[in-house]
Amino acid sequence: DSEDETPDKKLKIVVMGDAASGKTSLCTRYSQEQFNKQYGQTVGLDFYLKRITLPGNVNVTLQVWDVGGQTLGGKMLDNYIYGSQAIMLVYDITNYSSFENLEDWFQAIRKVCPDPRSPHMALVGNKLDLEHMRTVKQEKHQRFAQEHGMSSHFVSAKSGDSVNLTFQKVAAEILGIK
Ligand code: GDP
Repeated sequence: DSEDETPDKKLKIVVMGDAASGKTSLCTRYSQEQFNKQYGQTVGLDFYLKRITLPGNVNVTLQVWDVGGQTLGGKMLDNYIYGSQAIMLVYDITNYSSFENLEDWFQAIRKVCPDPRSPHMALVGNKLDLEHMRTVKQEKHQRFAQEHGMSSHFVSAKSGDSVNLTFQKVAAEILGIK
């Protein structure tokens, strides 16, 4: 029917953060269902595509970009950020420096995107399965999110806990869907 002909909204989400925080694991985990790895021909970067349905029967195609081994100050970062609707800043809840360094990641993004409303920013504490080894207190996480105008999420890329939910929430946040 005609509803099916409405083109999907396309949302670009970029996953950033320190090496070993679990960015690739997160993307791979999310990719397990109907998730195709694609080759970004324009800039030679990898991204994943996933079609999801949000409340209100809104179909969206998520383009999830994994910055991979890119480090802060890397020349390609601008290319990743370009045109994104959301950025997920991922850290490892057992690795304090991966959390501390998010301030620098945040500032690097702000340099490229000075508008605080766009892209939407999401704070993602990963490795929730290692909660017993947590070194970043939840209050610290919440305060960082609040002070930087970010939404707040915890996941385990290993167990899959909250992974789908987090991408779903971030997509809904971009579109202002409750
Ligand atoms: P990236 O460098 O940020 O892309 O991180 P990777 O996805 O390569 O993960 C770094 C290491 O952390 C690997 O050894 C992963 O197996 C491990 N890892 C990633 N996510 C999790 C998680 O949720 N729980 C646990 N226990 N290990 C994880």
